[in-house]
Amino acid sequence: MIYLDNAATTRTLPEVVEAMLPYFSEYYGNAGSIYGLGSRSKKALIMARETIAGTIGAQANEIYFTAGGTESDNWALKAAYESCQNKGRHIITTKIEHHAILHTCKYLEECGARITYLDVDKDGMIDLEQLKKAIRPDTILISVMYANNEIGTIEPIEKIGEIADEHGILFHTDAVQAYGHLPIAVEKMHIDLLSASGHKFNGPKGVGFLYVNRKTKLSPFVHGGRQERGRRAGTENVPGIVGIAAAAERASLCMEERTTTECRMRDYLIDRIETEIPEARLTGHRTMRLPGHVSFCFEGIQGESALIMLDMQGICASSGSACTTGDPGPSHVLLAAGVPEEIARGSIRLTLSAENTMEELDMAVEALSGIVEKLRGI
Ligand SMILES: *Cc1c(COP(=O)(O)O)cnc(C)c1O
Repeated sequence: MIYLDNAATTRTLPEVVEAMLPYFSEYYGNAGSIYGLGSRSKKALIMARETIAGTIGAQANEIYFTAGGTESDNWALKAAYESCQNKGRHIITTKIEHHAILHTCKYLEECGARITYLDVDKDGMIDLEQLKKAIRPDTILISVMYANNEIGTIEPIEKIGEIADEHGILFHTDAVQAYGHLPIAVEKMHIDLLSASGHKFNGPKGVGFLYVNRKTKLSPFVHGGRQERGRRAGTENVPGIVGIAAAAERASLCMEERTTTECRMRDYLIDRIETEIPEARLTGHRTMRLPGHVSFCFEGIQGESALIMLDMQGICASSGSACTTGDPGPSHVLLAAGVPEEIARGSIRLTLSAENTMEELDMAVEALSGIVEKLRGI
């Protein structure tokens, strides 16, 4: 098997699983209990929070553990909207966000929010001038993803943060694709709220976190016990939290070395596809791009058909977003980037990791080349 779908999810590393294991059957105490077994879990939580905070230049009490990226996005948007009602109801986001953001925005519109969806250019990049013009006196929140999951484009987060800061507007970023893959410094980038998810950086599924700047007053998301300082109730997922911290630590320690390798492999793959497959159109930005992210549209084919044929050759890839599988329409991200509907249907995303080999990439190009030719011949 050749796994080229790391933007959908990543392999939980054996050392991460090993760190988690004792917290299932050995140290299974509830972190809220007063006896030794409970405080063992509590200690693990404290350490995990410090580890995660350290990777983004935050304080431990600014990290809230959640059940993943989707929950963090929901919390950030809904709570910011609820908490800022006295100031206004206007939110600025983009047309290329993940559905965890877009569908939450749709829900908030039903609740009375006014939302501006920023355009992107052909590379998937937002326009900072358009952002500035969209700001109104009642704007309460700007939410722009750090990097796009379908086309890999990295947005100018630090500049967006500066603009939000100058206007006294909260800034949230969905950093689910970026965390563990790109450097993040919340203070320097003027980020007030940041979402991340464990399974996108070799951690376990079902655990993520929301960074909330200590100056930001955000209403609780899950009501119940006093866990997560009363803002996200429910007995803590100690094994998952230990796992996400182990993955975070490892991801941040070897980030430079790993992403240098991934960028080299990415550019090799892009170059081979562009030279060997005719009418291949790279989607997303060529350089401001996630390290392991390759995405193309191939004219005259259906992406889904190519994926099935790739799967028959043992290659795992995607047409853009795992979350839109089953949705027959072309991707909202590609349409926003101005890709014509017919061409957008032929999208293929290959997202590699440093665990892939050059030999695997060669095999993938050869398989893809044959499949595209075959489909075009039909
Ligand atoms: C995967 C992803 C999410 C959702 O995260 P989950 O942990 O799977 O809920 C949100 N935003 C982006 C950009 C993603 O890639």
